[in-house]
Amino acid sequence: MSVHEPAYLNIVKELNSKKVTLVAVSKKKSEEEIRALYELGQKHFGENYVQELLTKHARLPQDIHWHFIGHLQSNKVKYIVPFIHLIHSVDSFKLLQEINKQSEKLQKTTQVLLQVHIATEETKFGMDERELEQALADGASLRYVKIMGLMGMASFTNDQEQVRKEFEYLSRLYQKHQPLDILSMGMSGDYRLAIEAGSNMVRIGSLIFGERS
Ligand SMILES: *Cc1c(COP(=O)(O)O)cnc(C)c1O
Repeated sequence: MSVHEPAYLNIVKELNSKKVTLVAVSKKKSEEEIRALYELGQKHFGENYVQELLTKHARLPQDIHWHFIGHLQSNKVKYIVPFIHLIHSVDSFKLLQEINKQSEKLQKTTQVLLQVHIATEETKFGMDERELEQALADGASLRYVKIMGLMGMASFTNDQEQVRKEFEYLSRLYQKHQPLDILSMGMSGDYRLAIEAGSNMVRIGSLIFGERS
């Protein structure tokens, strides 16, 4: 078991003082490791893979708030809509429509974030600014999804100024499209830069759980 308890408690203290919500990213981590963190008071957990999330959701405490943060395929939406707390990774209007459709079947509202592509790498998912504006406009008429805010991932680089620029760009988009509640940006390596730029929700895995194998 490799939950870094002192590291976790320090991060929680730091984030609480700044009113930033911690999503503990538990992908590839065991149920025991998640349970250990849950016992310390952690309620928000983030997962990237649908099947892994379904298994964990079935076996772990039912009051955990599960966040979906990985790339989501339309045909898998129906499996997570019944219980998901927040989907961070909505990267197309088509996906938003599918979440709306599956939520309507259950007569529930699903909370989502729109993922914006802010990194220089092509490999990362997300909308550009124009697609974002269109999705916000068209999404307003979907009754069974609630767009809570924006999510982004900065470039994987040691260039702090580059990362800062990307976070500040997303933060400007977030300000521009108020009212929104959640700006999800920042991971283990860059969460302080993200908070300085205005993030109010960070997704941290390896700092808490140790490196993933
Ligand atoms: C894996 C992952 C994280 C956490 O990464 P760490 O570097 O381990 O903190 C955060 N956000 C997303 C979207 C991820 O896929």
